[in-house]
Amino acid sequence: MHILFHASQEEIYGLWMIEELASHGYRLSPGTLYPMLHKMVEDGYLTVRSERDGRTTRKLYAATEKGRQGLALARERVRIFVREERDA
Ligand SMILES: [Zn+2]
Repeated sequence: MHILFHASQEEIYGLWMIEELASHGYRLSPGTLYPMLHKMVEDGYLTVRSERDGRTTRKLYAATEKGRQGLALARERVRIFVREERDA
C-alpha cells in the first residue's frame, strides 16, 4: 500500500524502499520486501525494469495504471473509515 504510493510518485528500488519504510518506523527486511514487490508485479500493480549501474543491476519499480487505481480505491476506503471513526 505505502509501496504503491511511492511507486506512483517515482520509480523506486528495493533498498530505497527499505530505507524509506524505516523512516516511517517500519522495519522490513529484503527477504520480506522483495517477495512483496514480486507479487505486486505478478498481480499487475507494478512494472519492473532492470538498470545497470556500474557493476550492479538495480531493479526499478513503477506503479501501473492498475496500481494507481488500486491506490485511489484504497485511499477512498481509508477516508471512509476515518470518517466513520470520527462520527462514531
Ligand atoms: Zn513513505
